[in-house]
Amino acid sequence: MLVVMKKKVIEKKIQAVINAIEKKGCAARLLPAGDRVSIGILHHNGLVKPADFLGLDGVKEVILVAKPYKLVSREFQPENTHIKIGDAVFGNGSFPVIAGPCAVENENQVLSIAKSVKNAGAKIFRGGAFKPRTSPYSFQGLGKRGLILLAKVREETGLPIVTEVMDVETFDIVERYADIVQIGTRNMQNFSLLKRAGTSDKPILLKRGMSATLIEWLMAAEYIMEKGNTKIILCERGVRTFVRHSRNTLDLSVVPAAKKLSHLPIIIDPSHAAGERDQVLCLAYAAAALGADGAMIEVHNHPEEALSDGAQSLYPDQFFTAMKTMKAIHAIIEKK
Ligand code: PEP
Ligand code: MN
Repeated sequence: MLVVMKKKVIEKKIQAVINAIEKKGCAARLLPAGDRVSIGILHHNGLVKPADFLGLDGVKEVILVAKPYKLVSREFQPENTHIKIGDAVFGNGSFPVIAGPCAVENENQVLSIAKSVKNAGAKIFRGGAFKPRTSPYSFQGLGKRGLILLAKVREETGLPIVTEVMDVETFDIVERYADIVQIGTRNMQNFSLLKRAGTSDKPILLKRGMSATLIEWLMAAEYIMEKGNTKIILCERGVRTFVRHSRNTLDLSVVPAAKKLSHLPIIIDPSHAAGERDQVLCLAYAAAALGADGAMIEVHNHPEEALSDGAQSLYPDQFFTAMKTMKAIHAIIEKK
């Protein structure tokens, strides 16, 4: 349930509504939007009704949220959520691009890639320090050493950093180094991790589970938001289907579908969907044409020597050209 307050209502009236909600044994969540404030009522188990709040001073209306996900729904918040990180804003109609290698391998590698992607116009640098790998014999990432190298990239280039967290145990350290904490496809329904992410003050990049429905994905985001962290960026990275011609199948239609149901920004990762670099370019252009809120693309200075995901990593010059094309496509969409 959502209590919408009248415009420019004074603090005292808002507090009185919060007190009334808490008196009923429910939790209140303040949702400021422009010059209006709304208050979400959580955990009410049907024990409260709109009439309990409609008569209170300053209340404009009470909306029943029918969806199982509440805080992330458009019913709760009709306006898009904007998330600003460095020079990038996700959700305001712009198309910021995150780029970098799959994994942090060494200092030269990350610095070289970071300089070229920055030069091409990327706004955020990506690189995994803790890597979720299908095989225990594959490169597992540099761990803390990788985080230190990412901090060096930020220091030298000014680019904010996104990196993946794999478990609750390493959340503190990843959160300390990262500007955006990524939760990968394999952990989308790791509920303890989602709850921990909800107590973080860092934005969370929540990838879609490889076999998750849109509703399951939004419910995962709800876990994070319910704990208080409202800065969530959804990332579509392809889902598992019967096809063999690509690593995953990029679900393009999930972008308009998610935007209809939720106010959260949604970006596209064409790299993990494609699995091979030739397809990455086409899918990145599709992301720009779709009106997604950005893209995340893997780039490597020597993809043939990469310790993970080399086949899908773009060469720096390919990325440079791709950025120009994405920008041109996005400009057409933006005008419309
Ligand atoms: C990644 O971004 O490096 C990654 C492992 O992605 P995903 O969780 O989508 O497989
Ligand atoms: Mn990868």
